[in-house]
Amino acid sequence: MARIVELRGVREQSYWQATMPELPDRRSGTLRDSVDVVVIGGGITGLSAARRSAELGASVVLLEAERLGWGASTRNGGMCHPGFKTPLSGLVERYGRERGERLYRESIDAYEHLAALCEGRIDADFRRSGHVVLASAPGHATGFADAARDLTAIDMPSHAVAREDLRQEVGSDAFFGGLVVERSGGLHPGKLVAGLVRLAETAGATLHEETRALHVRRQADGRSVVETSRGAILSRDVIVATNGYTGGVTPSLRRRLLPISSYIIVTEPLAPDLAAELIPHDRMLFDTKHYLWYWRRTPDDRLLFGGRASMWPTTIARTASILRRSMVDVHPQLAGTRVEYAWGGKVAFTFDRMVHAGRADGVTYATGCCGSGVAIMPWLGTRIAEWVGGGAPPEIASLSFPLVPAPYEGRAWFLPIAGEYWKAKDRRDARAAAGERSDSGV
Ligand SMILES: Cc1cc2nc3c(=O)[nH]c(=O)nc-3n(C[C@H](O)[C@H](O)[C@H](O)COP(=O)(O)OP(=O)(O)OC[C@H]3O[C@@H](n4cnc5c(N)ncnc54)[C@H](O)[C@@H]3O)c2cc1C
Repeated sequence: MARIVELRGVREQSYWQATMPELPDRRSGTLRDSVDVVVIGGGITGLSAARRSAELGASVVLLEAERLGWGASTRNGGMCHPGFKTPLSGLVERYGRERGERLYRESIDAYEHLAALCEGRIDADFRRSGHVVLASAPGHATGFADAARDLTAIDMPSHAVAREDLRQEVGSDAFFGGLVVERSGGLHPGKLVAGLVRLAETAGATLHEETRALHVRRQADGRSVVETSRGAILSRDVIVATNGYTGGVTPSLRRRLLPISSYIIVTEPLAPDLAAELIPHDRMLFDTKHYLWYWRRTPDDRLLFGGRASMWPTTIARTASILRRSMVDVHPQLAGTRVEYAWGGKVAFTFDRMVHAGRADGVTYATGCCGSGVAIMPWLGTRIAEWVGGGAPPEIASLSFPLVPAPYEGRAWFLPIAGEYWKAKDRRDARAAAGERSDSGV
């Protein structure tokens, strides 16, 4: 493995956490003995579930082990889009056209639910800017025209961009074609969390920070006792929204989730003409590698650049160095630009690369967004609250949720090995890409 020199002088904190409104301090309130609904997890899923349950008339307590929004919800890239880790074509192949499209349409509903919140009661710097998938290897662009046709047919206006026209979308010569999808956008995740906290409390939910759920025990009468680090609560229903931070409270969920770290850096503010050259239409960008990079302009025109960087135990300074090198490979214009922030967070992957909602261990859950949760999770949190309140389950709850096919109780010992395998595939594609570039003189 090449030696990576740690990047020094970088603030190891989420840029969104550093620039979000201060949240109310909810560390010291008295826990109630008994409520209708306990929500475990204070990210965008849990806050949405708490808000909706309270709107439906339930008494609600939300438990967050750390601070509100502490998990992936204030650490992500802020890119929000319909769809799942499994693309539309994969859904149709796996579930058939009708069900696959029905699932995809749920994700459009989720995106529009978030958009309506952010164009209404929550100011989270939301912009319907669209996104571009960029082909990292020559073969990766071949399906873009078909994908654009299929997406457009399902109310997702999209078009393929040829390699020679890509400068209209990205200030880089590293890619072999693009797929532009118009119905998506970007927001400030910290401001979204702050808005969801406000709406949950306004609806009547009580939020508790630094309160860890330790155990959920179902009683004969159907109610549950939630043991916490600050005492027990008796509850009619329990909603679990712990995603990439799921632990032993829900053992059967933990056996189905792979917590994978993702990392991000943010540069100093860019000159306006440089920002416009890098990403002319302010879109969200992803590449097509297994170990993919994602990047965007922040609302104040810094460059945010993220990716998996490493599956091995590592440091933020080391991942910042890997990300910076990759950012400059993509955009040599940034060689002299300072990186100011670096951080990481956990994403919950599932073995079928689909998000899941359902009932297990006596709780109702929504989890496993595989790194694409900003749009789907607030909506799923809302929908499972309606389900708990007597409404219909979302279509996603009809999917079976596969176990991780390895002896595994939460410590994913095999991930570094899988990571090296994916990296080897990316290196093979990169060699093909380098050959193509030298043939075409780029
Ligand atoms: C670096 C990174 C970049 C990402 N980028 C994007 C992106 O650009 N677009 C996108 O769509 N998605 C992205 N994601 C994914 C997205 O952030 C998540 O899908 C989403 O935030 C999940 O929200 P959540 O509320 O379900 O989970 P989280 O926000 O992770 O919240 C779970 C909470 O549960 C709490 N918890 C755990 N156990 C307990 C317990 N026993 N008791 C009480 N509380 C507990 C944790 O402390 C945590 O705060 C990214 C994720 C990461 C990490």
